[in-house]
Amino acid sequence: DQVANQIAAGEVVERPASVVKELLENSLDAGATRIRVEIEGGGRKLIRIVDNGHGMVADDALLAFERHATSKLRTSDDLLSIATLGFRGEALPSIASVSRLLLETRAEGDEAGTAVEIAGGAIVRVSEMGMPPGTTIAVKDLFFNTPARRKFLKTEQTELSHIAALVTHYALAHPEKHFELHSATQALLVAPGVASAGERLYQIFGRETSGLMLPTAAEMDFMRAGLPEPPPWKRNEDYVPAAPGYMRLSGFVSKPELQKLNRNSVYVFVNRRLIRDRLVLHALTEAYRNIIPPTSFPVVLLFLEMPPEEVDVNVHPAKTEVRFRQPSFVHNFVRDTVRTTLMEARP
Ligand code: ADP
Ligand code: MG
Repeated sequence: DQVANQIAAGEVVERPASVVKELLENSLDAGATRIRVEIEGGGRKLIRIVDNGHGMVADDALLAFERHATSKLRTSDDLLSIATLGFRGEALPSIASVSRLLLETRAEGDEAGTAVEIAGGAIVRVSEMGMPPGTTIAVKDLFFNTPARRKFLKTEQTELSHIAALVTHYALAHPEKHFELHSATQALLVAPGVASAGERLYQIFGRETSGLMLPTAAEMDFMRAGLPEPPPWKRNEDYVPAAPGYMRLSGFVSKPELQKLNRNSVYVFVNRRLIRDRLVLHALTEAYRNIIPPTSFPVVLLFLEMPPEEVDVNVHPAKTEVRFRQPSFVHNFVRDTVRTTLMEARP
C-alpha cells in the first residue's frame, strides 16, 4: 500500500505548491475562515498550514491517511459534483508517503485534540494534545525518501513564487476569508477578510495596479446574472443547457492601459476552483487582440459559475486542467463578454 501511495504521490504531489493546493482545499472544505500558510526552504523544508475549520475527531484523524478514505464522497452522484473541492481521498496519504508529516487537529465539540506523526507513510506516533478547534498540518522534508523527485525541484525562490501565486489565487476566490502566507523571513501575504472580490483585488494588487502601472486601476465588474433581461449567452444558439441552470461570468479585467509583462496575472476560477485552461487563456488573448500589444498581459480575475455537470475538473488529480462539456461555448462566452467590456470602456 505504501507503494500505491507513493505512486499516487507521483501524480498528486508534483512540487511544494501542489501540497499547498491540496492542504488549502482541505481547509476550505472544512469551512475554515482563517488560513495561515508558513513556508521554509521553498516548501521543501517545511509547509505548515493552520486553519480554524471543523477539525477531525481522533478516529477520523487516523482514517484520513487511509487511501480513498475521504469524508466527502457520500453518494455516487457526488462524483459528478464539485460542490466540495476535493473528493478523491488521495491527497493526505500521498503527501504523507513522501514527507514527514505532523497532523494536529481538534473537532469543535471535542475536549482534546489529536496529534498524528507520520514519516514516509508510516505512523510514528499518535497522541492527545490540547489545542484550539481546527487543524494544523506540517509537512517537513518533502521528497526526503524519493531523491528522484527531489531532483526536479527548482530553486527555493521559484518554488516559493509558485506557492505565493497559488495562495493569492485562493485568497482572490474567497475574499471573505482571512489568508496569510509567511516565509521564514517575511510576511508575503496578509489579507484579512473583505466584503467583495473587488475589495480583495485592491487589497492584493492595489499598489501594483494603481501606482506602478496606472493612476486609476481598471475594474470591470461584468456580473450579468440577476439582471432582468436574459443574460447575453442565451443568445448563443449552440448552447444546450444540460440541466436547469446557467453559466455566469463575473470578475475584473484590466483596462488596455494597464499592461503587465507577466503571465501570472490571469486568474480563472470555475465554480471557485482555480483552473489554468488553454481554452480560456486563448479566449482572453482573442478578447485583448489589437487592444494591447501581443507582448504584454492583462490583469484578469474571472469567476465562471456553471452547473457541475458542465465541467469535469478531475481530468488530472493535481493539475488545474478542466474539460468543459461545451468548450466552444465557454470559449466564446468568455471572449465576447470580456471583449464587450473592453470596447465599452474605450474612451
Ligand atoms: P479528500 O479531500 O479528497 O477527501 P484528502 O486526502 O485530501 O481527501 O483528505 C482526507 C480527509 O481528511 C478528508 O476527507 C477530510 O475528512 C479530512 N481532512 C483533511 N484535511 C482536513 C482539514 N484541514 N480539516 C478537517 N478535515 C480534514
Ligand atoms: Mg483533499
